[in-house]
Amino acid sequence: MIVSIASGKGGTGKTTVATNLARSVGAPIQLLDCDVEEPNAHLFINPSFESSQTVFLPVPEVDEDRCTYCGKCAEICQFKAIAVVNQNILIFDELCHSCGGCWEICPESAIIQGRRELGIIEKGQSNGIEFIHGRLRVGEAMSPPLIKQVRAYQDPQKLTIIDAPPGTSCPVIASMKESDFVLLVTEPTPFGLHDLKLAVGAVEILQIPSGLVINRSDLGDDAVKKFARQKGLPILMEIPFDRQIAEAYSKGEMLVDVIPQWKEKFLELHDKIRHLSKNQTLNTKH
Ligand code: SF4
Ligand code: SF4
Repeated sequence: MIVSIASGKGGTGKTTVATNLARSVGAPIQLLDCDVEEPNAHLFINPSFESSQTVFLPVPEVDEDRCTYCGKCAEICQFKAIAVVNQNILIFDELCHSCGGCWEICPESAIIQGRRELGIIEKGQSNGIEFIHGRLRVGEAMSPPLIKQVRAYQDPQKLTIIDAPPGTSCPVIASMKESDFVLLVTEPTPFGLHDLKLAVGAVEILQIPSGLVINRSDLGDDAVKKFARQKGLPILMEIPFDRQIAEAYSKGEMLVDVIPQWKEKFLELHDKIRHLSKNQTLNTKH
């Protein structure tokens, strides 16, 4: 089973929920931090890393001895990553999406596949949790291919928890798609509600069963709860604003370690997710 933890905006407590859920449920489990632009789950899980792999994307390199400057590669490239100007060919690596169109179409076989570094993937263990995260190279703009590589570590024999990036754009979709359940984390503020609406829209398009966790639930107003009722989005857990919780977070400590009663609540959350995932999937099929 794959459970993605997502939120329309950053700072809602998404990583707190992902890490504490993983720690509470225990083995066989894996936690994939797909927030590759700013991974931080490792700060709480504290894994001992065993391996690190550099990930590359194929990009074109031109053999100018073979090139006739026909311009076909520039014509096919939808991302303006190749330009042919008079007897010069220019390649803008950072714009390339590695679709392969240019090296397929070149009539002279003048394009070979070079590579651009995307980032690294690190793998480790922590108290029975298999932990994997990606770190996007500084300056790299495309995170979905690295997220895809992190997700390639999914093990169907284990419960997979994915800490998705914030927002509702391509990196979030790459992290959530083909999940069995999406757990949305929000806070009861106008900003939280605004971004929750966008996140719910994305989950509806992907047709994945979902539920809600409200963090700092005793602050703000009840507009988030009203919206959840309207949408039939079940509220699976509320985490109140609590000084002890905030202090634990600021020190990189796990909520379930500092206040052990929370372990029971996260186990209940896991049961609700399993139950809803089965029922909502059946409803969708009917
Ligand atoms: S398609 Fe091939 S031959 Fe034509 S300009 Fe591009 S690299 Fe050169
Ligand atoms: S691989 Fe695709 S995106 Fe990259 S330069 Fe070639 S045609 Fe453009």
